[in-house]
Amino acid sequence: MSDQNPVFIPGPTNIPDRLLSAMHVQTRDHRAPDFVKTFAPVLEGVKKVFKTTQGTVITFPSSGTGGWEASVTNTLSPGDTVLIARYGTFSHRWIDLCQRHKLNVRIIECDWGTGAPADKFAAELSGDSGHDIKAVLVTHNETATGVKSDIAAVRKAIDASNHPAMLFVDCVSSLGSMDFQFDNWKVDVAVSGSQKGFMLATGMAILCVSPKALAAMETATLPRTFFDFRDMMAANASGGFPYTPPLQLIYGLAESLKMLEEEGLENVFDRHFRLAEGVRRAVDAWGLKLVAQSPDLYSDSVSAIYVPEGFDSNVLTEHAFDAYGVSFGIGLGEMNGKAFRIGHLGSLTDVMVLSGLATIEMAMADLDYPITLGSGVAAAQDYFRSTNAVATKAAA
Ligand SMILES: *Cc1c(COP(=O)(O)O)cnc(C)c1O
Repeated sequence: MSDQNPVFIPGPTNIPDRLLSAMHVQTRDHRAPDFVKTFAPVLEGVKKVFKTTQGTVITFPSSGTGGWEASVTNTLSPGDTVLIARYGTFSHRWIDLCQRHKLNVRIIECDWGTGAPADKFAAELSGDSGHDIKAVLVTHNETATGVKSDIAAVRKAIDASNHPAMLFVDCVSSLGSMDFQFDNWKVDVAVSGSQKGFMLATGMAILCVSPKALAAMETATLPRTFFDFRDMMAANASGGFPYTPPLQLIYGLAESLKMLEEEGLENVFDRHFRLAEGVRRAVDAWGLKLVAQSPDLYSDSVSAIYVPEGFDSNVLTEHAFDAYGVSFGIGLGEMNGKAFRIGHLGSLTDVMVLSGLATIEMAMADLDYPITLGSGVAAAQDYFRSTNAVATKAAA
């Protein structure tokens, strides 16, 4: 099996050589005076990706899950009420984390394949005249189902109810791949990580925190030590870190920000849409169905695809790996066995996506899926050619 094959899991994503090189650095002293010059511009640069001037960027050596924990423990107290909808594995895991922290979690159960129900949030918030609900928690991109939620609509629901609840958003699998507007959507805590849109190794939780959330921090009593915003902010203010920083990831993040800026953030989003649309055309040509229930919910970073009745998606992903050395996302939670996922975020091109589509097609054909070999690839090829400026000019 070749390690040159890209992965088609929705994170961790393929690491471009340029970022591997950037992370390939010898140990340096994070207490040396030049660490300030390395770290401070990175925190500033990340703000552009969150589209914020108001927010404070806070990082921790952790995966995204630690970011969830930091969001909750820094701003809330035991017994506080939070409002959250469950529509996939990741929203479920955030609920579980809140419950284990002894929060009072009001859960809205939704069909998997749907997204954050702004109307139901509005109803809950309007009915909460005592303002018990301290925060509304939303997973922007539900990676288990390939569903993107409308955060602007959730913000509208909160504002329309005249409710002071904070808005926390998990954007781990959307930031740097799909549009995210921290300031415009008045997000209070956004949680992301290094290993998806930033195309880096896993190991850094990347958060953005509003002044309102920082004010809530002053009276919040959930215990926190490693993930304490105050310690991190105090150390960062002088360019330092409260403990040993993940230096290689910080170097990588500096380079990742350069790559995103060179391509242009809006171009990065357009590329993700185009690649995702190529995958969706292939799914359609195979005669298969996405888990996401309608086009407004389609994620541009991952597609979850139902296998036909009578087939097991775990057998398919295992076979693709065994036979062709390529990883696709398995079906998570309720989708286990029923759906597989194609991750299409981070460092990816038309050529790479076509290789993934060709591979999963071979795997499906091997297992006697009722699909026509080449049909999905051809549909994606048509779409990619017709949306490639140089190709359409040559054809004219
Ligand atoms: C990947 C991911 C996370 C974080 O998972 P970790 O494995 O802890 O990095 C959180 N939420 C979503 C939506 C994700 O896709």
